[in-house]
Amino acid sequence: MALIVQKFGGTSVGSIERIEQVAEKVKRFRERGDDIVVVVSAMSGETNRLIDLAKQVSDQPVPRELDVMVSTGEQVTIALLAMALIKRDVPAVSYTGSQVRILTDSAHTKARILQIDDQRLRADLKAGRVVVVAGFQGVDEQGNITTLGRGGSDTTGVALAAALKADECQIYTDVDGVYTTDPRVVSQARRLTKITFEEMLEMASLGSKVLQIRAVEFAGKYNVPLRVLHSFQEGPGTLITLDEEESMEQPIISGIAFNRDEAKLTIRGVPDTPGVAFKILGPISAANIEVDMIVQNVANDNTTDFTFTVHRNDYLGAQQVLERTAQEIGAREVSGDTKIAKVSIVGVGMRSHAGVASRMFEALAKESINIQMISTSEIKVSVVIEEKYLELAVRALHTAFELDTPAHQGE
Ligand code: ASP
Ligand code: MG
Repeated sequence: MALIVQKFGGTSVGSIERIEQVAEKVKRFRERGDDIVVVVSAMSGETNRLIDLAKQVSDQPVPRELDVMVSTGEQVTIALLAMALIKRDVPAVSYTGSQVRILTDSAHTKARILQIDDQRLRADLKAGRVVVVAGFQGVDEQGNITTLGRGGSDTTGVALAAALKADECQIYTDVDGVYTTDPRVVSQARRLTKITFEEMLEMASLGSKVLQIRAVEFAGKYNVPLRVLHSFQEGPGTLITLDEEESMEQPIISGIAFNRDEAKLTIRGVPDTPGVAFKILGPISAANIEVDMIVQNVANDNTTDFTFTVHRNDYLGAQQVLERTAQEIGAREVSGDTKIAKVSIVGVGMRSHAGVASRMFEALAKESINIQMISTSEIKVSVVIEEKYLELAVRALHTAFELDTPAHQGE
């Protein structure tokens, strides 16, 4: 008999019919003899609706009150699901985050879980009940309701699984797993049977939106096996684990991630002196702008070029800051480009294979795609290219690294 935490997202509980379907599914697991804790999100669109309401009252709603309000979305779905289960003769009970006592810090709208009291849940499980817990919310030391940030129900699921030492945390959603890349861009994209936490973290932070990043971090830290599955289709989904076993079929690259949300800024003719990188990026970070990729050229004539990327929304702000810096340090010019995209290949297999980056560059060269910036880490190579070549690049790399579905390989 296993202990399983099942998390159902907003679309999976988006209507009464769907909630009834989820109840049927939970019932089937229950009948197999498993102990089940279910975590649910609010009905799809509900959290946005609530935030809109708040914005009608105030441009900047007080975070404490915002949390009191948005946490109600999940309070509705836990009760509905518990009712649907009880109607099916499945003993069930629902709890809000504070009733469980999911203790968090007091950072309203982005709180972190500190501790979970598992006594009540264990007693219910022992008594044969399915426990339905509200995702996305907790309570701080002072008893204030807190929320965990958008998409936070994933984190609730993982945290409960960690606290209860569950055998698996299953994340049910509207896709049937994690794919080698976005199937809307590459029709031959494949569902991965398995991926490591590390790889998933890279995929998620590079724009693959299946799971909340914090949930993946949490799962990795506490080694909670995570499985992404389709709510209403049968199938094994994708298992995310620590395990990095080398098998014959282990591909070098597990996935290709991309993102169009970045913009690039260059400052040219910068005096090549100690402290210059700090002079350039210090004011950027003081303006609360996050920098992603950074490239500095080898100096030529005692001056150098410096390029970095920021989120597109921060482009104009960063440009202003940089113009000022350029004047101060006597740089030649500032230029920038918002029509860029970042494409990354991700895979733990890179650790044990040489030549992965050059294979990537070769594939891009064959398509005459110019690489503007490159950065690498142990399990990732990222390039910045012109945005209009994004789809072409992703498809070329998907084929070059033999990720296409077998029927299409070599096409
Ligand atoms: N309902 C919350 C949101 O929409 C939390 C979640 O769905 O995970 O962000
Ligand atoms: Mg979600």
